[in-house]
Amino acid sequence: MHRGEEDYIKYIYKLTIEANKNIVKNNILSELLGYTNQSVNEMVKRLVKKELVEFIPYKGVRLTQNGIVEAKRLVRNHSLWEVFLVNKLGYSWEEVHVEAEKLEHAGSNELIERLFNYLGKPNYCVHGNAIPKLDGNMPKIYNLSLNNVNVGDVFIVKRVLDHPKLLKFLKQINLELHKSIKIINKDEVNGLISVLIDNKLFDIKSIDAEKIYGIIN
Ligand SMILES: [Zn+2]
Repeated sequence: MHRGEEDYIKYIYKLTIEANKNIVKNNILSELLGYTNQSVNEMVKRLVKKELVEFIPYKGVRLTQNGIVEAKRLVRNHSLWEVFLVNKLGYSWEEVHVEAEKLEHAGSNELIERLFNYLGKPNYCVHGNAIPKLDGNMPKIYNLSLNNVNVGDVFIVKRVLDHPKLLKFLKQINLELHKSIKIINKDEVNGLISVLIDNKLFDIKSIDAEKIYGIIN
């Protein structure tokens, strides 16, 4: 597989399996990847030929069993390199994405397994994404977004999407994985959620809150 094909497989995985959805529309893919609809459609055709994705007219694409195996391998590589960069080389969580994007395409299975053992067999990446196991089994995927909780709830952050701007913002307001925050107010009109973090009040935009996942305490 080419690197471009691998990236598609991985994004389809993120938008379906990691997002708890069955299928993703081609135009959502082009928006996310920043490619034209036409180039997305062409790539989808290529991946259909290779039996990595399935295209359902008017509905979109989803991974085949082979596609899922490939995607999990890539996500596993990506996540393990992230853990390595943060825990062993001192990178911050908003810096690792670009490096891990390159590293995920490199390295033999042997190298990745040694890395996995060296890192203490982690279940989650530094952003809280579940790392697929070698046999394809998955640790729990956190899918309850901060947007969908109520005023008064105490929410524990378990996973955030790997978007550099979001990660920088979260650092500014000191919001890390496993922290509990209390929902103080939801301003639906202006799209803001007010939360208490370490006893300080912060406003989080709904478009950011939908990228933050966790559990209600
Ligand atoms: Zn990550």
